[in-house]
Amino acid sequence: MAIYNAEAIVIRVRDFDEADKVAVLLTREEGKVQAIARGARRSRNRYAAAMQLFTQVKVQLYHGRSMDTLSQAEITESFRHLREDLVRMAYGAYVCELMDEMIRERQRHESPYLLLLTTLHLLNELDMEPEPIRRAYELKLFSMLGFRPSLEECVACGGSVGTGPQVRFAPVLGGVLCPTCPSEGEVVHRLARGTLETMKRLLDGDIRKAHMIKITGEMAVELDRVMTDYVGHRMERKLKSKEFLDSLK
Ligand SMILES: [Zn+2]
Repeated sequence: MAIYNAEAIVIRVRDFDEADKVAVLLTREEGKVQAIARGARRSRNRYAAAMQLFTQVKVQLYHGRSMDTLSQAEITESFRHLREDLVRMAYGAYVCELMDEMIRERQRHESPYLLLLTTLHLLNELDMEPEPIRRAYELKLFSMLGFRPSLEECVACGGSVGTGPQVRFAPVLGGVLCPTCPSEGEVVHRLARGTLETMKRLLDGDIRKAHMIKITGEMAVELDRVMTDYVGHRMERKLKSKEFLDSLK
């Protein structure tokens, strides 16, 4: 059996049999993998602390046919504030579940791993506003996976969206519409110009500075409406963590 080492983040974990756990790991080297941690349900087991949601770990795994087997795990970062603060925990759970839902196993791209790791570090900072960090994460992740929204030009014709105070955004089509293109029967949201400019900053700016972007009042409502549809349309099911996050707001 082949053994390999990886840097990983635990993005989902569930009990398996009487004593074991199955963890979904987003690794830097191998993409998303599933691994069984023998005995991890027992509190004194050497994997018990490492195999918890959000934890960044260094692992050694045996390749298996349907699932890999954990043979070593060492915690690099446990993201304490994501465990102690309910709101931050909800954000952390959301970004992990979104990642899990959006990427398939064994796709070897390092960038989703690095984006998630940076995002968890930012959400773990108590003086940073989590909402803009989450929005930047959503936009950047979708962009990375081939669903970059068109925010500069009309998604239908490539023309200018004009300079009016409002623009139309069609989540299913994946971007803004110019004043003349029809919406093809799809749901269209009206966005204030300022909301569109904020989306551009979240999409292309440095995520480490996203917490400084103010998202309040009407802009928060507009962004939530658009992003809920934009993300939801590309997902096969509703995310449990999103319902939880919404319930806390
Ligand atoms: Zn157009």
